[in-house]
Amino acid sequence: MENHREREEGALVYPVYSRRSRGLSVGVNLFPDRKVCPFDCPYCEVFPFTTKVRFSTETMARALRSVLIREREEGALVRDICFSGNGEPTLSPWFPEALEAAARLRNELVPRADLVVITNGAGLPDRRIFAVLRDAARGPEALKLWLKLDAGTEGWYREINRSSIPFAVLLGKIREFAGEAPVIIQTMVCKIRGLPPPPEEAEAWETTVFDLIMGCAGEGERSGTGVQGVQIYGKARPAPQDPLAAALEVSFLQSRALSLKKKLEKAGKGLPVEVFA
Ligand code: SF4
Repeated sequence: MENHREREEGALVYPVYSRRSRGLSVGVNLFPDRKVCPFDCPYCEVFPFTTKVRFSTETMARALRSVLIREREEGALVRDICFSGNGEPTLSPWFPEALEAAARLRNELVPRADLVVITNGAGLPDRRIFAVLRDAARGPEALKLWLKLDAGTEGWYREINRSSIPFAVLLGKIREFAGEAPVIIQTMVCKIRGLPPPPEEAEAWETTVFDLIMGCAGEGERSGTGVQGVQIYGKARPAPQDPLAAALEVSFLQSRALSLKKKLEKAGKGLPVEVFA
């Protein structure tokens, strides 16, 4: 069970059990005072809140150190340190230094844990952030980037992400990034206004992800760049905009994953395509 309530009370660091990490994940929240995100996904789990807590990398690093030490003393296995929190972490002005601090603490205290950033890609058009993420993903930090791609068509993107960033711009940046660094694609599959994604959307998403994988599979495969896996996940927790978004049957998600897997296998490309319902 994931429990993110602490971060809406201003926590900078919050341990959670995460289904996608398959264990204990220590979250880092760069937005303790309010949600900051250019997307407005109807399934978003961040409830409206404000606090007077301000972020500082020093305070975050202190809290992270003490949580990692406590978990270690209690014999818990920390699977990852994960930047997500109340919005899009790459848009925080503290993101680069906070990432550096978290990488240092990971190396010192939980060297086998992953360092993860969950992102919707909104920071990629910023060249500096693009470079920070790319270098961390390719460098000794071995940053794992879980990159959101919920739609294959402009129409579904408007429904499911309601983002201020044009779809073509975002897709272009995702393609560029995957050509230079490893990424894991994450896709939410759920109903919006009572309806599942239409068949043409499912087809377009599959083609987009397939092309993304194959397009970065040449030199990328050898140099460790490109798409390393696909995670399809369903709506599992309450959201403030319920019932605008609603869960679909697990079989619906599984059939999307199976269809992509078959297409990849036909092309001779084996890649994990996982479902988290
Ligand atoms: S991108 Fe993430 S934080 Fe932003 S609205 Fe969507 S689910 Fe919420």
